[in-house]
Amino acid sequence: MDTQRSNRITEKTGNRDLLETGIQYLKGVGPKRAELLGKELNIYTFRDLLYFFPYKYIDRSKFHTVKEIDTNLAYIQLKGRITGFRTEGSKYKQRLIARFTDDTGTMELVWFQGIHWVTRNIEAGKDYIIFGRPAIYNNRISIAHPEIDPVEKTDLVFSGKLQPQYSSTEKLKNSFITSKTIQKLVAGLFQHIGKMDETLPQHLIHRLHFPDINEALYSLHFPAGHPQLKKATYRLKFEELFYIQLNILRQKNRNQQTIKGHVFASVGNYVNDFYHKKLTFELTEAQKRVIREIRKDLGSGKQMNRLLQGDVGSGKTLVAVMAILIALDNGYQACLMAPTEILANQHFATISHFLEGLSVNVKLLTGSTRKAERNTLFAELAAGDLQVLIGTHALLEDPVQFNNLGLVVIDEQQRFGVAQRARLRQKNTDPPHVLVMTATPIPRTLAMTLYGDLDVSEIDEMPPGRKPIMTIHYSDSKRLVMFGFLREQIKQGRQVYMVYPLISESEKLDYKALDDGYEAMVRAFPPPRYLVVCAHGRLKTEEKDLAMQLFQTGKAHIMVATTVIEVGVDIPNATVMVIESAERFGLSQLHQLRGRVGRGADQSYCILMTSHKQTAEARKRIETMINTTDGFVIAEADLKLRGPGDIEGTQQSGIPFDLKIASLSEDGLILQFARDTAQELLSHDPDLSAPENGMLVKQLKRLSRSQVDWSSIS
Ligand code: ADP
Ligand code: MG
Repeated sequence: MDTQRSNRITEKTGNRDLLETGIQYLKGVGPKRAELLGKELNIYTFRDLLYFFPYKYIDRSKFHTVKEIDTNLAYIQLKGRITGFRTEGSKYKQRLIARFTDDTGTMELVWFQGIHWVTRNIEAGKDYIIFGRPAIYNNRISIAHPEIDPVEKTDLVFSGKLQPQYSSTEKLKNSFITSKTIQKLVAGLFQHIGKMDETLPQHLIHRLHFPDINEALYSLHFPAGHPQLKKATYRLKFEELFYIQLNILRQKNRNQQTIKGHVFASVGNYVNDFYHKKLTFELTEAQKRVIREIRKDLGSGKQMNRLLQGDVGSGKTLVAVMAILIALDNGYQACLMAPTEILANQHFATISHFLEGLSVNVKLLTGSTRKAERNTLFAELAAGDLQVLIGTHALLEDPVQFNNLGLVVIDEQQRFGVAQRARLRQKNTDPPHVLVMTATPIPRTLAMTLYGDLDVSEIDEMPPGRKPIMTIHYSDSKRLVMFGFLREQIKQGRQVYMVYPLISESEKLDYKALDDGYEAMVRAFPPPRYLVVCAHGRLKTEEKDLAMQLFQTGKAHIMVATTVIEVGVDIPNATVMVIESAERFGLSQLHQLRGRVGRGADQSYCILMTSHKQTAEARKRIETMINTTDGFVIAEADLKLRGPGDIEGTQQSGIPFDLKIASLSEDGLILQFARDTAQELLSHDPDLSAPENGMLVKQLKRLSRSQVDWSSIS
């Protein structure tokens, strides 16, 4: 148990909050079980148990009869009598079979394990209620390992219709802590604690017609019926999301009041020269709109914290360049941070090119920047002579001191943690404006939680002339067909990416697959007719750079790589993306990779190579990729398939994604409502000082103690 949590647990005597009592003091628990409950289920206190909700409910109000049994039925409940036992099978693979009869017919109950227990506890001639899943076994209907209870003892604690099911673990079951045990403990807990203090303000409860906290919690564990369960669930989901949003929004409002933003009042020569002399294409309407939104922020006197969402290839870099130039026009420095060296290099190249002839001093800082170069760079930066700094995490290091940093742009945010965002912001006495760009479209629900403190701008339009990428799925046996297709494309002057997965647990094998793949490609596409290059994280920077350069200049036809090219790389002439072992990639990653092609006017293709057999989930991912190129649809599908905890960025985010009852993938509407409610409440009472809101402050304090340090999230 981590110390922070164990410190919260008070001893039985003298505690102020009964719910903080250690779980071992609950009747029926004790030290041994307490340890198990903590280790296995994170239940350390009374409160933890109270908020350990059933994962499903089984309707036990209905009884089936033997005659009605249809093996398509899922779990069913029957009432009847055991008329006799017999055993079958060899001594070592014995099974126990009971004949079970009701008025309508006879069936069998079968045990393969725990036979001893059954023969000792279950008697022939007695009436039982059984519960389980029917199947056909040896041509007869049977239920294997049914739940079985004597009729006269139908549950001391359970009198409702819907029986809660609590998740348990193998270890717990071995120590006889089953779902039923937990149910009994929860029942005992309710008796022990009596009435609890309300956890939402009365005015909200009245207005929203919520059950009070006692009723809600009780209904969740022991629902009297579906309507009660529904009401209770709604309230508790709302409450959970409401407090998260209240916290984020309060922090956001506070930042807006206390942090003064640099005012970028004017647009000057840099912006004008760039716009009129350098820009060779018309901005899309979406780009224009977003730039307007950013300009408004920058001139407002408030500090900007804006998230710029836009699918891969939608032209976010250009928006960043405009924002940077506004900062420069107002006499400030700007920096742009990217998650990989390749991407930082690419941004540096693109932006230097955009700014050519505007006499802007732009430099690059990455892990491979030489010492001498670094020292000049740091000196120029501190003196204010260096106006734009582009780089990787290296920007976060201490020697990086700006003279007057006005704007921070962070690209591909999902790879940076919240803490890093905060560190960059501290690079100036008055925090700079922050523009966060992400190409992984984040479902709204997740964005509202992950980036709830940010304002969101969205580029929802692609530059003109783009053709949707065609996605094809081949199993490995079609490799030669795929090669033929590549030759065809190369003949037309196009270039090809071929990406291999790299997953750390089996890194050695992965690299072997990549090396083998590279060699196979060289054999299939031999020099001098073809040039195949390779780029991955294990290569020296020079080797990687050379490969990138050969590919970028069109000299190499095929780039074999790991996901180092996943983000940001922009080579419009590359029209084919082959993804090897595509079943091993997540959806958002596949989408990112696919976004490397389709950047020019030519038809582009994404080829997903997989082995013959795949899991159902992998098949679903491939299907989704084939069916849509819409990043938001993909993000939603990803969230549904994987759950929010696995979405890139959520782990480092510091936000508790082990939500107890709400689900970010399913409760989007409740989340929106909770956020609106929190916002409205704060607009009337920004620092929650009204007496009727006093309890909110207390709740927030308690939650931040037990969850995360919310103050670090901004
Ligand atoms: P993102 O970073 O959003 O994935 P980029 O900024 O790399 O996308 O832009 C993708 C490509 O589209 C680049 O080659 C860029 O120069 C080009 N581009 C951006 N905006 C436009 C536009 N309005 N019209 C035409 N091409 C554009
Ligand atoms: Mg980009």
